[in-house]
Parts: sequence; C-alpha cells; structure tokens
Amino acid sequence: MSALRGTGVSPGVAVGRALVMERDAAPVFRLTLPPERLHDEVRRLEAAIEASREQLHGIKERLSREVGAPHAYIFDAHLLMLDDPLLRQRAAEIIRGEAVNAEWALRSVSESLHALFSQFSDAYLRERSTDLDDVIGRIQLNLRGSPDAPSLSRLPGPIVLVAGDLVPSEAADLDWDRVLAIVTDVGSSTYHTAIIARSLGIPAVAGLKEATRQIPPGSLVAVDGTRGEVVVEPSGAALDFLQSAQEAYRREEERLRGTRALAARTLDGVLVRLEANVEFPEEAATAQLHGAEGIGLFRSEYLLGRGLRFPSEEQQLDVYRRLVEQMHPYPVTVRTWDVGLEALGPAGPSSPNPALGERALRLLHRSADPFRIQLRALLRAGRQGPVRIMFPFVSGLRDLRLALSLLEEAKEELRTEGVPFREDVPVGVNLEVPSAAVIADLLAAEVDFFSVGTNDLIQYLLAVDRTDPRVSSLYEPLHPAVLRTLRHITEAAEAHGRPLSVCGEMAGQPVEAVLLVGLGFRSLSMAPSAIPRVKEALRAVRAADACSLAERCLGLSTCAEIEDVVSQALSVR
Ligand code: PEP
Ligand code: MG
Repeated sequence: MSALRGTGVSPGVAVGRALVMERDAAPVFRLTLPPERLHDEVRRLEAAIEASREQLHGIKERLSREVGAPHAYIFDAHLLMLDDPLLRQRAAEIIRGEAVNAEWALRSVSESLHALFSQFSDAYLRERSTDLDDVIGRIQLNLRGSPDAPSLSRLPGPIVLVAGDLVPSEAADLDWDRVLAIVTDVGSSTYHTAIIARSLGIPAVAGLKEATRQIPPGSLVAVDGTRGEVVVEPSGAALDFLQSAQEAYRREEERLRGTRALAARTLDGVLVRLEANVEFPEEAATAQLHGAEGIGLFRSEYLLGRGLRFPSEEQQLDVYRRLVEQMHPYPVTVRTWDVGLEALGPAGPSSPNPALGERALRLLHRSADPFRIQLRALLRAGRQGPVRIMFPFVSGLRDLRLALSLLEEAKEELRTEGVPFREDVPVGVNLEVPSAAVIADLLAAEVDFFSVGTNDLIQYLLAVDRTDPRVSSLYEPLHPAVLRTLRHITEAAEAHGRPLSVCGEMAGQPVEAVLLVGLGFRSLSMAPSAIPRVKEALRAVRAADACSLAERCLGLSTCAEIEDVVSQALSVR
C-alpha cells in the first residue's frame, strides 16, 4: 500500500482499478490484460503492422509513379523497420511478458529504440529516429482504427482514470459513465477537468505531479477527493476506513438534497439566487436536482468535443432550446466560444502562451463565422424562453464592441432572411480579465449584466497559472487585491443598475460565498453539487453580518489575516 497526496478537487470517495493514460499525439492507455487475451492482442498488433505495410507499399508506388523511384526509397527503410525484430518481435514479447496492450508495448519499444538511436555517433543514423516515429505513429493509428482499441469515449469498464493532464476537448469526449474517479498529475481546483468532475459528482484529486508514473496500471486505487488522497493497493483496514467515509459522504449528500425546495435566504431575509455552471447539456437535470434557479454559465465550448468541430446552427439551436425548456422558467446564460486557436483548424498556428494569447473573442479577427453562427442560434433560441448571451475574455471596449457589432450583424441577417428571433436577448460580460474589472463602469454602460469569472480573474490578477500545481499555494481567492477588485466591480454594477453574479469556483465554496454576499453579490453560479452546501451556509448567516465581515476583511493586508478573521467569524467550512 502506498499513499499519494494532491489537492482534493471534487469530494467523495471511489475505489477502482487504475487506467493510466499518457499522451503521444493522441492518448495512449496502458491496460493490463488477462492472460487469455494476450494471444489476440499480439494478433491485433500483427494486423496493424500488416495494414501499415499495405499503406506503405501504396505510398511507395504512388510516389514512384509521380516523382520517380529514387524518391520512394525512404519507404523501403520504413518497410524494413516494420519487420525489424527490435520492433515487431520485441513489441510482441512485451505484450506477452508484461500482459499489456499493443499500444503500450509499441510505446515502450519506441522509447528503447530512441535511446539506442541517440547513442549513434553518425548524425545521419541519429536522424533516422524521425523515421522510426513515423512508422510507429502509423502502427498506432492502425491500432486505433481496430475495433478493440480503447479510447476516451470507449473505456474498458468502470475505471479510475489516471492522467497527466486532461484537456477540455478530451473531457468532452470522455465516457463519464464509466469513470469512478479522476486522478491527474497537474491541475488545481479551478482546472477545467476538476470543475467538470465536481459538476458530475465524481471524486477527483489533482496536482499529484507523478501519479502516472507512481500508479501501476490495473492496480486497485482508492481516491479520496475530499481529503486529496490516493491510496494505491489499499490494505483491508484502509479500505474499510475509506468505505465508511464514502457512506458518510453519501448520507450527507442525501440530507443536503433535501434542501432543494428551500430558498437561499439569509437569517435577515436577504434572498440570494443560486444558479448552476454546466459543461454538458445533460447536466441540466443534475442542476435541477440540486435546486438550481437557472444556468448561470453554460461553457458552450464543450459542444466542440475532441474533434474540435463547431456544431451547426441547427444543432446548437436544438441544444439551447432543450436547455431553456428544461430549466423553465429560469434563465440560461450561454457563454460564447471560449476556445483557443486550435479550434480554428488542426493545422492552425499555435499560441506560445494560450492563456494570454489569441482566444475567445480575439479569434474574431481570424474567423468570425463560428461566432456569428452561435449568436444566430442563441438569438433564435431566445424565442423559447429566457436565454442570455455572455462574452468571455473581454479585456476592453474594443473587444466588446466588436462582439456587439457581430451580434447586430447576426440580427440583421436573421431579419433579412425572415427567420424569427428574440430582439432583446440580454447580453453580458464574463468579467475575468483585470483590465475589464478596472473599467467595469465603462463596460456596464454597454451591456445588460456582468458575471465575474473569478477563476481567471484571480489567475491574471495574481499572475498565478491556475493549472500549475507548483504555484497553487499562491492562488489566493482571499488576497486583498481580489477582494478590492470584487468590491470595485459591485460598485460599478450598482451605479449602473446592472445585475451581477459570480460564476467562478469561489461562488461554490460556502465560506467564500458568504463573503461574496457580504461584498454585495446577490447571485452566485456554481457546480450543481455545490448548491446545497452554499445554500445551507447562507441560510445560517445574517447578510448584515456578512457585510460587516466583508468590510473588516477589506481593511486587512494579507490573505492569511483575512482567512483568520473569516474562519473565526464563520464555522461553515
Ligand atoms: C472563470 O474564469 O472564472 C470562469 C467561470 O470561466 P472558466 O473557468 O471556464 O475559465
Ligand atoms: Mg474563464
């Protein structure tokens, strides 16, 4: 038994077999196979090698015809590699000897061959390692095409997913029904996969640094997402302890769900609206189950999936309409595509620092169509019920005005085409870039509402990468700069009479939620599963006391002082 410690980012306990995923060009899983499957696995490898041979012959012939035989010789080398015992025979040996899948065996072979190539003194021979990548990449692709190939959307049974990283497009494709828990090397609580795991109520521990190296594939692991612990091959006593923790957690969840029909009203009668953040349309049902009074944030980019394909206008209309119908009579706030450059084409340019680069509205300069289509679908869905449009990553009036003019264009198009839509769909800004927060008063004059994205706001304000566990201790939601910025925003929104909400993860933490109410926020949006706990915390305080607490905190100079004062004042954590 061994225990690893990380950050618990989605509470609950789960026990299951580890499925370890590493990423080459695409995810490569290491599976431990039962002895009776090894023979078939070797045949699967052979079939992929044969398919590669046929393809290489085809390429070689075409090249000989089109540019002449001498240029096709390089594929002779590739064909020879396919039969090299160091590759073919060795991979089969690894499958049989280590009882693993063909993809993993090929990966091991590739590593040892690369080590070998790097020792060659001849530069020409050393460079042949790129040919090796080409050949192995081709076999991997052929394996992926085989019907038994594991993939994120076809997981081999209920598993605990152990991954280095899991990017949003992979999370969108994941077969979540078969995921008992998630364990990642990187990330912290505002990491997107953590946010989804919380939404779906799946225990998760992030920021484990070396989990993919330390957790043997196929081993039994117990994940305690509440305490941030992962136990590998737990002893009987450890399992008993974790299972009773799991039972206690389940009972508490059930008790909290009983608060569904209650209002989030403070002891002195102040009503706070609690909405849900969702990534997948199916989560609307979970949101309702937890008593959400609307969708405060639909992260629409999850509709793109791993293929990063923008859905058509009709497909989107269908999704947005269903969301509105399901949440009736409550509003649904859809955030427009918050994607990076890669969404515009697989071979597109890459951004050296995507968090500060060309993303979201900044992509309008390259390609406005995906945004125009989305806005058309949202305007049309507005006829069905209360839809709100929210623009992410706004840094100033220039971005915002560009987006607003595109919205006007979309309306004009619909009018000309005679397509019915709702004229006055409310438009808002996801306040998450410090410059936007500073000029909140100027932005307020041009939009209908604000929702503060504290996940990014804190990241940019404090210059702390929200995905990097090495700096997660510096990610301080209660930093004086954060509280002052939030106060500044509430004042600007109030002065312009603009509805205001918080949709960052802060809103889903009971203590922080109380502080937000003290700062003047009356609407909070969070993972559906966080709603009952936040509601309970709010029902146990007086808004006037929360307000005095916020005032006191605003007078303090460090996060540690603020945390002390808050934890003395509130015992709801
Ligand atoms: C935020 O930045 O706080 C937010 C809600 O958006 P996301 O977590 O998707 O960046
Ligand atoms: Mg954000």
